Amino acid sequence: MKSAADLQIITYPHPTLRYQAKPLRKVDARLKEIVDRMFELMYEYRGVGLAATQVDLPLRLFVMNSTGRQGDGQEIVMINPVISRPRGNEIAEEGCLSLPSIHGNVIRAKTIRVNAFTLDGQEINQDFSGYEARIIQHETDHLDGSLFIDRLKEGSELEIQGELEQLEIDFESRQRTGSLAEDSQLKADIAAWEAAYC
Ligand SMILES: [Zn+2]
Repeated sequence: MKSAADLQIITYPHPTLRYQAKPLRKVDARLKEIVDRMFELMYEYRGVGLAATQVDLPLRLFVMNSTGRQGDGQEIVMINPVISRPRGNEIAEEGCLSLPSIHGNVIRAKTIRVNAFTLDGQEINQDFSGYEARIIQHETDHLDGSLFIDRLKEGSELEIQGELEQLEIDFESRQRTGSLAEDSQLKADIAAWEAAYC
């Protein structure tokens, strides 16, 4: 299994991005290192949220900081998040660290209730709205194997077709040249992480 320092952000169409992450049953020192590394990657690539599936881990957790700046705003870790009571609708542009250079308008609930656990095992049971609610919905989608491009309205999909095809070509060539593991190896890695944490 990879160490936290080796984690990198994976990009579309990596198969783990389509994986439904299993609930986490254990938090240990290594998981805390993983969370630190996820924040590090999120800030490095100027994101505001990062889900475990985006670093090729099949674990139900994500990190976020709506300011996107280290030392500013609030760093939030959500383990096993469950969203309920969606209220209102809002449309806004989204991007994703796993879909570099692609943006599109997505409708999300304006306010949501979130149930989750922190890294210390504290329960979160809180309402979020606006930008934070949008980040939580985007990241929770990742944990269900869903990407924001799945939620674009018909027609705007066509506008990003060229970029998606380019990412597919890049991915295939990395897999062909061996700089990316074969699908069978990726599956074995996922099974090992699940055996350890889920
Ligand atoms: Zn994303």
